[in-house]
Amino acid sequence: MTARVLEGAPIAIQIRQELHDRVADFTRHAGRPPGLGIVLVGDDAASEIYVQNKLKAAKETGLRADFHHLPSTVSLAEVLATVERLNLSDAHDGILVQDPLPPAIASGTRAIFDTNVPEKDIDAFHPVNVGRLSQGRAVLAACTPSGVIEMLVRSGIRLEGSRAVVIGRSDIVGKPMALLLLHRDATVTICHSKTRDLPSVSAEADIIVAAVGRPGFVRRSFVKPGATVVDVGINRITDLAMARALLGADSPRLGVLERRGSLVVGDVHPEVAEVAGALTPVPGGVGPLTIAMLLKNTLLAAEARLRAASGTAV
Ligand code: NAD
Repeated sequence: MTARVLEGAPIAIQIRQELHDRVADFTRHAGRPPGLGIVLVGDDAASEIYVQNKLKAAKETGLRADFHHLPSTVSLAEVLATVERLNLSDAHDGILVQDPLPPAIASGTRAIFDTNVPEKDIDAFHPVNVGRLSQGRAVLAACTPSGVIEMLVRSGIRLEGSRAVVIGRSDIVGKPMALLLLHRDATVTICHSKTRDLPSVSAEADIIVAAVGRPGFVRRSFVKPGATVVDVGINRITDLAMARALLGADSPRLGVLERRGSLVVGDVHPEVAEVAGALTPVPGGVGPLTIAMLLKNTLLAAEARLRAASGTAV
């Protein structure tokens, strides 16, 4: 069997087209576009590319998008003050502080996420939004797991009654992923670094979501024939021998590593394509959906604020 490939880009384009029309409606009603404030601290090259992509996507969708670029020498108090200003701004509905922070203030990451008011917390990392997600009444849910749900639903993968295994239990991906699948009536198991005999647990699943951060971690033995496998992993590898062992000596992707010095691979081993029924590629699978869901969360936050301001039930 060769797995059906679930490409993220066409689904992301579809979502962004739908958002474009809703953003235009919101702008007509509110007299202003939904507003997104992105805070980047320091000059990590990868983070800067991510932020520029988010700003470009936001503007293309009709959102107002403002970039607050702070130097790597900034204090935690100054970052918190920037978030506070965005909290109070009428023009901003969504606030995003790009992770990771520079090492000197990285210990303040949680304080920053907690300072963001829940109504504008489009990453949905604030404890209030995590609690609402747990109770199945979230307006805002974490972007990458929400993107996975969109991918599965729009690809016609049945969630209700299915057995789902999420590998990874982070606050950003694994836990919200498990909750979103549960709210779609899947029977969910979360696996992690202490799970005993992970391959046999995983091999019972109709749907596997891998969010581990280890290149090629999910092998053929983890996968029931015909299962759907979602690869959330983004692992940058620079070692040619490792890339050859993972992708095969004749993979055309090895040329990317030779040209650019690094290559992005997922958590799922390429051999899984021979047993899975459907599989998301890396790159080009879940990745494009994360930005689409960030735009969607900004619009949802804007609509909820507008309803709250006009006294309509939220
Ligand atoms: P994390 O490091 O916070 O969590 C990794 C999880 O994997 C942990 O819960 C850990 O228990 C589990 N794990 C580690 N080793 C394991 C093992 N040997 N066996 C079983 N479980 C093990 O990472 P994260 O933030 O959840 O991200 C996971 C991956 O997803 C990373 O590659 C990250 O880059 C990627 N990611 C992608 C997107 C996207 O937009 N596509 C967004 C966020 C994260």
